[in-house]
Amino acid sequence: MELMNKKECGYKDISKDKLKKIYLFCDKYIDFLNASKTEREAADFIVNKLEEYNFVNIEEIEELSVGDHVYYLNRNKCVYAMIIGDNILDGLSIVGSHIDSPRLDLKPNPLYESNKLALFKTHYYGGIKKYQWTTIPLALHGVVVKADGTKIGINIGEDDKDPIFTITDLLPHLAKEQEKKELEKAIEGENLNVLVGSIPNSDDKIKENIMKLINEKYDITERDFNSAELELVPAFKARSLGFDQSMIAAYGQDDRSCSYANLLALINAKETASTKVAIFADKEEIGSVGNTGMYSESFDLFINEVLNKMGLNEIGLLSQIYNKSMMLSADVGVGIDPNYAEASEKNNASYIGYGLDVNKYTGARGKSGASDANAEFVAKIRSIFEENDIKYQLSELGKVDLGGGGTIAYILANKGVEVIDCGVPLISMHSPYEVTSKFDIYEAYRAYLAFFESAE
Ligand code: MN
Ligand code: MN
Repeated sequence: MELMNKKECGYKDISKDKLKKIYLFCDKYIDFLNASKTEREAADFIVNKLEEYNFVNIEEIEELSVGDHVYYLNRNKCVYAMIIGDNILDGLSIVGSHIDSPRLDLKPNPLYESNKLALFKTHYYGGIKKYQWTTIPLALHGVVVKADGTKIGINIGEDDKDPIFTITDLLPHLAKEQEKKELEKAIEGENLNVLVGSIPNSDDKIKENIMKLINEKYDITERDFNSAELELVPAFKARSLGFDQSMIAAYGQDDRSCSYANLLALINAKETASTKVAIFADKEEIGSVGNTGMYSESFDLFINEVLNKMGLNEIGLLSQIYNKSMMLSADVGVGIDPNYAEASEKNNASYIGYGLDVNKYTGARGKSGASDANAEFVAKIRSIFEENDIKYQLSELGKVDLGGGGTIAYILANKGVEVIDCGVPLISMHSPYEVTSKFDIYEAYRAYLAFFESAE
């Protein structure tokens, strides 16, 4: 028994083999990030991977039994997957992550012209620091659905030959007034307008000319923007970071880092008695609302459908199962930022490269809105991690009263599930270029794998 709780970097004295394993795992993770910059693209990637591993769409199967692999795709934006264990009535082992990330959505009537240039109006999605989204290359991803149901996929700005888009900012020479403003107000939401063109038609109309170009390329009209989901995301590629290549800089690691670890853990999990469930939720960044968010009843519906197809139809079964279930809420945490170390309380902060970041509770101002994991459950999870030699660190999201945040943890906890938050610690969370440690990505994968395989 070690008397003191020592914190050590996961890379310290690491074997060459282990390091190689971690870096190879993260090469694939980087590919996933580059292929999955929106919730729809992530859902696509996840479903393809699940099918590769013989998971079947629940809507295409009549009967289910022990050992079956099944998934549910909710409106192309959210996925639930399950491996049915020996006795589903004993509860579920759930790892719950989300696949939406902060970004800029196009407004329903985005296109306009101003001062001889064509622009798109946007409405930001999730908690962003607005100034971070100006003067960077942006790519446009998403779908336009025409009134007749035709769906047009759009992805511009990722290929090196593609054009990109950008939000301009005032030159420093003329920014004396702007620079006096508070950071929060220096760039207004209504100023997050994206530059999309500059050539006018023969009537000197730029908006019309750009609309004509869009129409020629995608066969859509201005009104078709009304029924579209178009997202501007950083056009940066995910990259290894540092001389030692120990870290990753990329857009969308909240929460696609945990989502990737979750997916890989599920498909690689050995068959054990437990019923393994992976959640890849949408809309976490705006409060988990809507029919693809965790608040919707679609998860209950999925579990009920599984029970029905197994011939288990007793009323009240669902609540009983939830009350015997446990979940790792797989969402990112805060890694201490050397530039802003004063935002964290050192004894209860996480460091990137030091392993899985575990939050017993989140919330803000007196733990308000938190799901506070029961000590008994924390002990159980600790024992799984310790038995499997997984590096973890218990922390809080920043100093008391400085702010706060939440995950999907409380939503499942409200159903009776034992839940604890644990994920990859991040620096520059919600920025266009978030930073993680490769060690932690791999450790999250190992932790979720150990959790899935621990038989109940
Ligand atoms: Mn998150
Ligand atoms: Mn977030």
